[in-house]
Amino acid sequence: MATDYYAILGVRRDASQDEIKKAFRRLARELHPDVNPDPKTQERFKEINAAYEVLSDPEKKQVYDLGGDPLSASGGGFGGGGGFGNFSDIMDAFFGTASQRGPRSRTRRGQDAMIRLDIELPEAAFGTTKDIQVDTAVVCNTCNGEGAAPGTSAQTCDMCRGRGEVSQVTRSFLGQVMTSRPCPQCQGFGTVVPTPCPECAGDGRVRSRRNLTVKIPAGVDNGTRIQLAGEGEVGPGGGPAGDLYVEIHELPHSTFQRRGDDLHCTVTIPMTAAALGTKVHLDTLDGREEVDIRPGTQSGQSIPMHQRGVTHLRGGGRGDLIVHVEVVTPQKLDAEQERLLRQLAKLRDEERPQGQFQPGQQGLFSRLKDAFNGR
Ligand SMILES: [Zn+2]
Ligand SMILES: [Zn+2]
Repeated sequence: MATDYYAILGVRRDASQDEIKKAFRRLARELHPDVNPDPKTQERFKEINAAYEVLSDPEKKQVYDLGGDPLSASGGGFGGGGGFGNFSDIMDAFFGTASQRGPRSRTRRGQDAMIRLDIELPEAAFGTTKDIQVDTAVVCNTCNGEGAAPGTSAQTCDMCRGRGEVSQVTRSFLGQVMTSRPCPQCQGFGTVVPTPCPECAGDGRVRSRRNLTVKIPAGVDNGTRIQLAGEGEVGPGGGPAGDLYVEIHELPHSTFQRRGDDLHCTVTIPMTAAALGTKVHLDTLDGREEVDIRPGTQSGQSIPMHQRGVTHLRGGGRGDLIVHVEVVTPQKLDAEQERLLRQLAKLRDEERPQGQFQPGQQGLFSRLKDAFNGR
């Protein structure tokens, strides 16, 4: 046996359901990711959830006690090591009804839940903690998850005498055949709850709004899902909780566009500044920085600022920030400006330039190339 579920919950092998439940609740409170976000503790939290999922379910517990693994096996049939027990098992094997034996458990694992969380680019780049509210199913305090009104308890079903199924003998060409079907009075649970809990109508859980603090690691992107073990819905009958997934949705940023872990922005500068060089200020994620536009900068040229992008989710380091330069040619010139420009053109012998032709569209081509390189 690889995992000792009893040891994980710290209970004896002959512990009652009540003792198992108490041990689980105590550990769950102690190791809850809210209280203790340490990854090792979260791993242990998953373990106690798995242990409780098995030991709180009479069927799975039986499979486990017989040496099987109820969390990996399909859980049904003869896989549990019981083998062909009696005549009805053999009949079931022939007629394909061997999937379930005995009463169903009222305790089941809760469903996983997912919520979407909007975050800003700087939060994605550096990580953050967020307080979120989730509407989820929690254990009903009135009945402690049992589903029975206080002072009452579930009773053995008198129709199936707790077996959860009723048998019927029918005649066929083979002779007499016995078939079983789930008990209609108790829906196969083997017990009935005569007076359901008024708070939860017998479900053992109620809806409640909870506040959670979620740690968002640096480097998350659109669609990244953060798993919070055991923060989903509590199962029916006080069963172990499912997991909660927080799906990240990154809000657009006013200056930067994110591609992978790199950030891109465009700066427009006048023709004269591109020719003479200049320095511009840019509010990066790390604060205001100076971008050096060298003399002779061309439109479409890009200036990389290393390690100014988003932190890599796995492994250290960060992406780059790439500033794309767009040179603006003046559209309206007054007489004096035109005179000076013509004078400059004459000085540079550019009064009648022939131009240089080459195939394709230079600006678009370089942008496409950048896109292919992930820039
Ligand atoms: Zn209740
Ligand atoms: Zn019944």
